[in-house]
Amino acid sequence: MSKAKAYAAFNPHDPLAPFEFERRELNATDVQIEILYCGVCHSDIHQVRNEWGNSSFPMVPGHEIVGKVINLGSEVKKFTIGDNVGVGCMVDSCRTCPDCLEQQQQYCNHSVFTYNCPDPHSNGTVSNYGGYSNHIVVEQDFVLKIADNLDLAATAPLLCAGITTYSPLKHWKVGAGQKVGIVGLGGLGHMGVKFARALGAYVVLFTTSANKVEDAKRLGAHEVVISKNDDEMAAHTQSFDFILNTVAAPHNLDAFTNLLKRDGTLCLVGVPDHPHPSPTVGNLIFKRRSIAGSLIGGIQETQEMLDFCAAHNITSDIELIPIQQINQAYERVLKSDVKYRFVIDLASLNVETA
Ligand code: NAP
Ligand code: ZN
Ligand code: ZN
Repeated sequence: MSKAKAYAAFNPHDPLAPFEFERRELNATDVQIEILYCGVCHSDIHQVRNEWGNSSFPMVPGHEIVGKVINLGSEVKKFTIGDNVGVGCMVDSCRTCPDCLEQQQQYCNHSVFTYNCPDPHSNGTVSNYGGYSNHIVVEQDFVLKIADNLDLAATAPLLCAGITTYSPLKHWKVGAGQKVGIVGLGGLGHMGVKFARALGAYVVLFTTSANKVEDAKRLGAHEVVISKNDDEMAAHTQSFDFILNTVAAPHNLDAFTNLLKRDGTLCLVGVPDHPHPSPTVGNLIFKRRSIAGSLIGGIQETQEMLDFCAAHNITSDIELIPIQQINQAYERVLKSDVKYRFVIDLASLNVETA
């Protein structure tokens, strides 16, 4: 066992605060990682505030983890000490079901999430603790390699925001000659814009924030639409092959299904605490349109995404913060006021606070 420092939520209402706990002894196939940076995903806030109704406390959030290997189990062959590595939303799965065998571990009925999930090593009696901490022990098959040319802090958000947008764009075969919409310019949305552009699509960003228009173009959008403006929306009726919706709050989906061509798909990745208003069926049947969902991505695809980022020089636009600012950062995310992902510098855990 080795002591870890962290910040934790102790209930859904109070601010996160310092916390110490033990990480498990390394098993033969485990890797121990010194966590250098951890992104702040909106899912952290949903879970800290128990908005999905499944939270257990104390909770150490964080599933956009980047660091260096500092210790190896006796049978680890994939990594050496000093390697730059990442850990995303999953730390294990059953490995035998059809989803696991097809490298879609995120859809395994027994996938083990990085935090707020019973830890199988404790027979489920203790919850996993995530990346707002100074080190972590993870089974080697769920650890990702990070190329040397990627900035480590700006790479952390790729482990969730990156793969969650890359995976559906690849699944629906987004590419040249297609018109693709991304809804919401937050952590996920800004990665969606970068990936859709790099994959060769014509990219339109939908935002509720007029002050993000120039940024969206800089990030790769060919056009930006203020989604509250009905005339701007109407100009794009029946024109999209695919729309990826990252919004974290319930809203009217008909406004977006209307914009799809025949056979187009609106894919939801945002997970609001309350359901969206029910979509109009007529919008779907008359053009055989689909509304779909997508969950993060498998381990193999996450490595493919990281390698794609290294080849195309893609990382997240980040605001680096010390852990002591995490509660203010949450408030700013809730106001859509982050450009475009907060990343915690875990070296700040060693700074004494009053
Ligand atoms: P985020 O940084 O807060 O971005 C969400 C964006 O949605 C905001 O920046 C804002 O963009 C827009 N938005 C917010 N409130 C809105 C409202 N009331 N109406 C319309 N637009 C609104 O959040 P994130 O970290 O990208 O996460 C987004 C969602 O994805 C969360 O629900 C999260 O839990 C979920 N998620 C899902 C998966 C998955 O596997 N499916 C993985 C990770 C996260 P504008 O200012 O541009 O309008
Ligand atoms: Zn996430
Ligand atoms: Zn499985």
